[in-house]
Order: sequence, then structure tokens, then C-alpha cells
Amino acid sequence: MWKFTAVPQHTPQIEMRCWTIGGGPNERGIRRGVQMTMQSAAPRSKRILMVGAPGAGKGTQADAIAKQFGITHIASGDLLRKHIADGTTIGKSVEDIVNKGELVPDAMIMDMLRKPVLAASETGGYVLDGFPRTVDQAEAAYRTAGSLGVGVQIAVHLEVPEEELMRRMLARARGADDTEDVVRHRIKVYEEKTRPLLEYYASRELLIQVNGARPVSEVTWSIVVQLQRAFKRPNTHAATAPAARQATAPDRAVA
Ligand code: AMP
Repeated sequence: MWKFTAVPQHTPQIEMRCWTIGGGPNERGIRRGVQMTMQSAAPRSKRILMVGAPGAGKGTQADAIAKQFGITHIASGDLLRKHIADGTTIGKSVEDIVNKGELVPDAMIMDMLRKPVLAASETGGYVLDGFPRTVDQAEAAYRTAGSLGVGVQIAVHLEVPEEELMRRMLARARGADDTEDVVRHRIKVYEEKTRPLLEYYASRELLIQVNGARPVSEVTWSIVVQLQRAFKRPNTHAATAPAARQATAPDRAVA
């Protein structure tokens, strides 16, 4: 079994050990030939996640945050729509799902995001918009991104009442997934599958709550002030998430 352990924060390397199946390490502790170290990606990068219903303003605010902190905005919905428009293999297999407002299978999303997330982590950080959508996706991301030190540090929740979400979504009507029925369905999917993420991040003390029903610039200001405060906290970069205390990460990483 492969096991990742992390050495202390100021030496951001990940030590990889091989354990014998069904037991502890072999007699030398670390099997000859398989011990290796990896550089964790940019331990000081800023890694932010937006959570909010469709129409809450995640994309707009993520753009503003990306500019403010000089990091990369990665939007899973935009990437999927590009695949669909370009007629790629991924695009063809997700088109129906996206147009109905259902969620695309986790494995496909994880594959699609792996490269951009790693690349952004090495160039200052990222603000992820639209991922994770479920606690399962958050846990899967924690297992992969977290072990590389590129998991999310702070989640920003944009709360907007449903009538306002509907008004915004129907006004912008971006594509086949923006008809009234589909929008209502997408909000329902958000309530059932995505809202539980708030508890997931809140229990790790990593959630920033923002009233997203105000004018765009006010919302941006509120987010930026809270993020700046959060990034000053020493534990934003070093603390371990409660569910991850065993697997100490070099950086606070909880995607
Ligand atoms: P968005 O632009 O983020 O509202 O996403 C548009 C659509 O893309 C969603 O309604 C889903 O069909 C799909 N999608 C985007 N992100 C994800 C994700 N993380 N997991 C599953 N499906 C997603």
C-alpha cells in the first residue's frame, strides 16, 4: 500500500514510502529503491473555492478575486461548455447531462480539472468555481490535491435567495441549460447535492460566508477583505483539517 506522509511546512517535500501489504514497513522502514521525495506545488499559493447556487455570482466574483490576488480562475462549467462547443469526446459525452442540469460523473470532472489545478497551483494559486459540487467530489479532491499540497485553503459561500437566483439566471439565459425548468432543477440539485459542502468546510473552519444578493462591487469588497484577513492567519497555511489530522499536509489543504 502506498502511503503519503508530509514533512514540516518549511520543507515542502512529500515523502513517499512503500509499506508491505498487510503489515508495517519492511525491516529497513523504507523499502530500498522506492523512497522518493516530491516537491509540493507552490506551498505559498492561494487556493480558493467558490460555493453558491447557479446565478449566485460565482463566476463574476471568481474573476474579480483572480485579478485581485493574481491567481487563475478555473470554472468547471466553462470548461465543460467549451468541450461541448468544440465537439470533443468529453463534450459529446457530457452534452446531454449538462443540458438537463444534472451533474457530470465525478471521474470525468476530476480528469478534466487535474492539469489546470496543478498548473495554477504552481503559478500563484487558483480560484475554483463550480467544483467540488458534492461532498464526494470534495473528498476525492482532498485525497489527490490534498496529498500534493494543492488542495483548497478557503471556501467562499455566496448566499442568494432563490427568487433572485431565478431572476438572474433567466435574464442571462446562456444556453440550453438556462431554460426556466432546467434552472429550477439546477437549483434543486444545488440544494440537495452541493449545499452539504458548506457543513463540510465549516466544520474545518474554512468557510467564509458572504451575502451575494448585494451589488457586485460590494460583494467583491466583502470577499476580498475576508480573504485578506484569512490569509494573514498563520494557520491558513499550516493547520490541519480535523478530518485530516492523521494525514498531515505541508499546507492547509482540504479540497
Ligand atoms: P456551472 O456553470 O458551474 O453552473 O455548471 C454548468 C453545468 O456543468 C452544471 O449544471 C453541471 O451539469 C456541469 N458541472 C459543472 N461543474 C460540475 C461538477 N463539479 N460536477 C458535476 N457537474 C458539473
